[in-house]
Amino acid sequence: MITLALSKGRIFDETLPLLKAAGIEVLDDPETTRKLILATNQPQVRVVLVRASDVPTYVQYGGADLGITGKDTLLEHGSQGLYQPLDLQIAKCRISVAVREGFDYAAAVQQGSRLRVATKYVAIAREFFASKGVHVDLIKLYGSMELAPLTGLADAIVDLVSTGNTLKANHLVEVERIMDISSRLVVNQAALKLKQQPMRAIIDAFAAALKTPTSV
Ligand code: AMP
Repeated sequence: MITLALSKGRIFDETLPLLKAAGIEVLDDPETTRKLILATNQPQVRVVLVRASDVPTYVQYGGADLGITGKDTLLEHGSQGLYQPLDLQIAKCRISVAVREGFDYAAAVQQGSRLRVATKYVAIAREFFASKGVHVDLIKLYGSMELAPLTGLADAIVDLVSTGNTLKANHLVEVERIMDISSRLVVNQAALKLKQQPMRAIIDAFAAALKTPTSV
């Protein structure tokens, strides 16, 4: 059995065409079923639905053989024990710094004042501000980062931005782009050795669909 860990929403939806290219069709709709393990048209392949931030953990410890997760999640979680053979170029967005409209970010940075930054991405934010030599107090949040500058909890946020509509709707402006984000295929190293043929078939089919060479 090959187990693929996916999260519901954007990643699941954008993975379906890649699975189809690999000849795999998921038999349930994750938005309507309450099942967490979904069968596919291939008896030897199943999909497990996990929280996006849990995908690396499932694959690392062998709860899943493969998974698909954002570069943001991998950078926050660390990627020990995981092969990352493919950038799937899906769920594309960027991770950026945003502030309230009218907040003079450039001046705050230039003056060397300590910035209060709220984010779910503490590791990425710490690394980014350290590389710029900007002193920050990081406040860990688990959701709705946009609220933090509006309520005075923080001066700035570090969050994912796609169209920018969420920022705009909350009177926030993007002031720095930290990095581009897309989703990666991650593979359990032991599973790749033990189930080489079926795992390779899936990895190669994904690579063929993307028309890029794999690195394992
Ligand atoms: P947008 O309004 O299109 O800029 O989308 C921003 C909102 O969607 C923020 O709340 C982000 O956390 C979330 N978001 C955007 N892109 C992604 C992505 N690729 N994966 C997960 N969440 C995302």
